[in-house]
Amino acid sequence: MTALTSEGPGLLSETTTGTEIPGFRGELITAEHAGYDNARAVWNGAVNRRPRLIARCTGAADVATAVRFARDRDLEIAVRGGGHNVAGTAVCDDGIVIDLSAMRAVSVDPAGRTAQVQGGALWSDVDQETQAHGLATTGGIVGHTGVGGVALGGGIGWLMRTHGLTVDNLVEAEVVTAAGDIVRASADDHPDLFWALRGGGGNFGVVSSFRFALHPVGPTVTAGAVFWAAEDATDILRCYRDFVADAPDELGTVIRLGTVPPLPAIPADLHWRPSIAVGCCYSGAVADGERAVRALRRLGTPLVDLVGPTLYADHQRGIDETVPHGWHYYWKATNLTGLADEVIDVVAEHAFRAKSPRSYAAMFHLGGAVARAPRDATAYPDRDVAHNIVIDAAWLPDQDDTVGTSEPGWARGFLQALEPHRAGVYVNFLDSDDDTGRVREAYGEDTYRRLAEIKAEYDPENVFHNNKNIRPDRSGSA
Ligand SMILES: Cc1cc2nc3c(=O)[nH]c(=O)nc-3n(C[C@H](O)[C@H](O)[C@H](O)COP(=O)(O)OP(=O)(O)OC[C@H]3O[C@@H](n4cnc5c(N)ncnc54)[C@H](O)[C@@H]3O)c2cc1C
Repeated sequence: MTALTSEGPGLLSETTTGTEIPGFRGELITAEHAGYDNARAVWNGAVNRRPRLIARCTGAADVATAVRFARDRDLEIAVRGGGHNVAGTAVCDDGIVIDLSAMRAVSVDPAGRTAQVQGGALWSDVDQETQAHGLATTGGIVGHTGVGGVALGGGIGWLMRTHGLTVDNLVEAEVVTAAGDIVRASADDHPDLFWALRGGGGNFGVVSSFRFALHPVGPTVTAGAVFWAAEDATDILRCYRDFVADAPDELGTVIRLGTVPPLPAIPADLHWRPSIAVGCCYSGAVADGERAVRALRRLGTPLVDLVGPTLYADHQRGIDETVPHGWHYYWKATNLTGLADEVIDVVAEHAFRAKSPRSYAAMFHLGGAVARAPRDATAYPDRDVAHNIVIDAAWLPDQDDTVGTSEPGWARGFLQALEPHRAGVYVNFLDSDDDTGRVREAYGEDTYRRLAEIKAEYDPENVFHNNKNIRPDRSGSA
């Protein structure tokens, strides 16, 4: 077996003696291993980085060992949760990936209504275990997205208008710091770190375990999507604006502008047809949900209406196939000042100019409990934003020299057209060419400054910088 020793400053030397990182229990994967290419692949197939070592951890002790090992050798560190970040920050060239993908355990305390979730779990893991007790917490709307990245950046999803963002439901985190220490962060322990973790991303340490508050949800909810023809987009968006203005908190909605995805539940003759869809999930009683969505279903003439009583866990996995691993992706995003007619006109005009039928734009409706939490309660700052948009260029790997060359330009042009209507950005929607200025835009000056001070406390040498980076700054003038 190829093994790794600690010989040589800043270098891993490979031997055939079977030496391992002392004390590391998990799997160590290098370019010589058969599984290397799989282990370095992330959700975005356009990301192609070659780490020197992938350290697949079994628990917090492994994470701490790997952090110390990397620091002693001045190795670049990347941290992998679910591997979904479009910018591919879960992998780095030539350094070490602290890979949490084998740490996916979820255990539920039904009486205390909390779930203990390991740092590499996916949202489908959380939903499966919590729904066994009729409970849930706000998570991402795609089951194969990682808990780690979502929970540390904010966490928007179907339940947020009733139960807040994922960060609002974080009760405690077990964190491996840049020094390799294992600490607990909560409202009582390391409260500054706890504040920073709830929005500040992977800047402050590796979270080996999260504890989330849970709420009764389903198991059956009123959920699904209604699709209309793309030509109706302007009218539907205007009606939708009025519809959501009065929507109850229990109703979460997301607009999708693109083509009809080829899902088995949708008649084949509609597949790939340009369309606007409203996805929805009413998390209260099913009968109340039927009433809450009635007006939505009566808008215009739908191509297809898939809304009805559905298992919440199924709804959470419902669009997984529409955004598979391995396609090439490029994103642009912004929060919106609102859904004024001028915004709607830009959205309806640009959304259907994409060349790839796999590209789409998604608009989340926030508000409700998200807006009710005080702005400085967590490091997620944009509480008053009611709508955002993420413009997702997507194409097949073998189309890099055809649509792959034009599709990112479509996303950039779309964002540029929205310029007068922008109001910050959700940090988890930033791509690799979004610079430091956009990270500051995501937090706003006050939040960024406070995060920079806490970063200086917990990671003064910026060991964790393969992320949407907050530079350490003790001076209070960052
Ligand atoms: C298909 C798809 C759907 C999405 N839907 C939503 C959605 O509904 N709601 C939403 O809010 N966002 C959504 N997102 C965006 C998502 O929040 C980010 O992509 C997020 O970074 C994904 O987290 P991950 O753990 O899967 O990613 P990774 O690429 O593994 O991680 C991203 C970064 O987060 C940090 N990180 C991850 N885990 C840990 C950990 N345990 N400890 C410390 N740092 C860690 C690291 O810095 C890492 O570089 C979606 C993304 C995709 C691709």
